[in-house]
Amino acid sequence: MSCLFCRIVAGEIPSKQVYADEHAIAFLDINPWHVGHTLVVPRRHVDDLLGEPEALTEIAPAISATARLLVDRLAADGLNLLSSSGDAAGQEVFHLHVHLVPRFAHRPGLRELFVHEKDVDLDRVHRQIVGGAPAPGTVSRS
Ligand code: AMP
Ligand code: ZN
Repeated sequence: MSCLFCRIVAGEIPSKQVYADEHAIAFLDINPWHVGHTLVVPRRHVDDLLGEPEALTEIAPAISATARLLVDRLAADGLNLLSSSGDAAGQEVFHLHVHLVPRFAHRPGLRELFVHEKDVDLDRVHRQIVGGAPAPGTVSRS
């Protein structure tokens, strides 16, 4: 299996998972734009949204639940949702994924979306999201 996100779904490559259900898993982006930047991916391999638009319906419950979880647990002031389809759109991993990016009032606006937050401690953020009582649907693998 050569697809990176298929290997993450299979548990062959570790990820900091924050949510999982029958159709999708959500895990922290390894190189976050903002604290809590998370990717929601279908469990089955789908290249992108243009190839299989109905895949979005499958992962919609996971997108909603993960968005709620991130905003609540990280006390975010807002959230961006983005999915890129194709090279021209900047897609780098060709397994459908939706970026969920919690946003905070001290760095507002769309222009600030891609300006990486420096020195994000992924372990600490992960504990903040899934620590204590497990969130509904959460499956911890790392
Ligand atoms: P895209 O440019 O929309 O295809 O986004 C791919 C995203 O995957 C980037 O934001 C990467 O930081 C992220 N990424 C790549 N490898 C991993 C990994 N092993 N675990 C978590 N996120 C990853
Ligand atoms: Zn895949």
